[in-house]
Amino acid sequence: MIDITIQFEVDDRPVEVDEITDEYLAEILEHTGEQIRRHVVKQLGDMRCAKHGNPPQVTVTGVYTSDTEQMELDYHVDSCCEQSVLQAVQALAH
Ligand SMILES: [Zn+2]
Repeated sequence: MIDITIQFEVDDRPVEVDEITDEYLAEILEHTGEQIRRHVVKQLGDMRCAKHGNPPQVTVTGVYTSDTEQMELDYHVDSCCEQSVLQAVQALAH
């Protein structure tokens, strides 16, 4: 199973969804987190490195700006070797 870490920053500050008192914002982050997870699982499935058999690790940072109510997603992929990282990045780009 793919290792997915999802983290959020609100106005340049790292936040935990549980800590957010603004219900509207907490809902946005929760919803976005679910969408990200679904997207990554759908695109990568149980992808493993063809050479080493390791699954990639995906870290997604959702950066939310409250002024503009915009969310930007930053995907970061780690794996055992460059080929495996490239394979995962390509799959995520679709
Ligand atoms: Zn590898």
